[in-house]
Amino acid sequence: MNFDELKKILKEIGEPGFRYRQIKDAFCKQAVLRFDEIRIIPKKLAVDLEGKISPLSFSLEKIVSAKNKLSYKALFRLDDGHLIESVLISAISGTWSACLSSQVGCQLACRFCATGQNGFKRNLTSEEITDQVIFWKNFVKTNNLPGTFSHIVFMGMGEPFLNWTEVKAALYRIISPDYFDFGARHISVSTSGIATGIKELARDFPQVNLAFSLVFPDNKQRDEYMPVNRRFNLEDMRKAIEYYIEVTNRKVFLEYIMLAGVNDQRNHADKICDFIDSIENGAKLLHVNLISYNSTNAEFKSSDAKTVKNFLNFLQRNHISATIRKSLGEEIDGACGQLAGQAN
Ligand code: SAH
Ligand code: SF4
Repeated sequence: MNFDELKKILKEIGEPGFRYRQIKDAFCKQAVLRFDEIRIIPKKLAVDLEGKISPLSFSLEKIVSAKNKLSYKALFRLDDGHLIESVLISAISGTWSACLSSQVGCQLACRFCATGQNGFKRNLTSEEITDQVIFWKNFVKTNNLPGTFSHIVFMGMGEPFLNWTEVKAALYRIISPDYFDFGARHISVSTSGIATGIKELARDFPQVNLAFSLVFPDNKQRDEYMPVNRRFNLEDMRKAIEYYIEVTNRKVFLEYIMLAGVNDQRNHADKICDFIDSIENGAKLLHVNLISYNSTNAEFKSSDAKTVKNFLNFLQRNHISATIRKSLGEEIDGACGQLAGQAN
């Protein structure tokens, strides 16, 4: 829903000021998807609006669910024909998280990520971002999914800090009590390493969580597998994370995809410890999530369970807070890194 456009239309057709609030609340809070579902507005107004503005900026092309019904992936067709994916996951029983896309594709081309391998098309508008929230909220409600939709993560397609203007506008509405009213502490933004973006996040949304896709703990490997590192290296990231911690005093999550034979040896675990120790308050506030690699191409293999366990033990023995994050979406190709936006 383009709320600015809605406000303009209501004014043009001479509706009283309170209508905007009623309709906005219906979409954001009660998660309706159509004007004629809003009982408190006159039927004629619903029909008029239906002809003037479309509630969602995309149409649903396809939706798939995992067998255990704990994750769902939606494929949306945008107005200009591009496809994006968005995922709903229940990682903790009774809570649902939406994993939102922020761009069609991604410029950053990390070698292990399906989105990055498919190139970049364009930024999403803030409306296309918040519409994913409306869609999932409605989905949880209409399908009577057990529990509440309470968390949002920017871990779908794209790099949120390379579309900060629109992501920021979307975040304002997502946490605003007048719009979606989500707790800022229930929202996470993930970056592969745009250091300047981290500073803006800390300044603009000090209660929103930060995740950093570390994946390689030294510059040489990061340069090779994650081109973003040539722009902002680990020293830049160290400073940016330090700044975020200083401003927010919040935990930061380091995402670490375990790639067999590439970044899963003892010396890598050692370097993770060094990186964390080099950050002021790092040992207290940084948490490592070990993630199993979701296959996207033949170049990499996921580390085996024993290697991951040993890696975890090593970190923990060195007083690093770390966990193995289970992947929920792999079955639907909706796990992180697999959101390639193809109609498969
Ligand atoms: N561009 C941002 C956010 C989107 S990617 C970022 O890179 O952080 C979201 C997450 O998916 C990141 O943590 C990324 O490291 C992870 N990811 C990418 N490809 C993956 C893959 N093939 N398997 C598992 N996780 C992957
Ligand atoms: Fe882009 Fe993130 Fe994928 Fe890297 S991991 S290509 S930054 S979406």
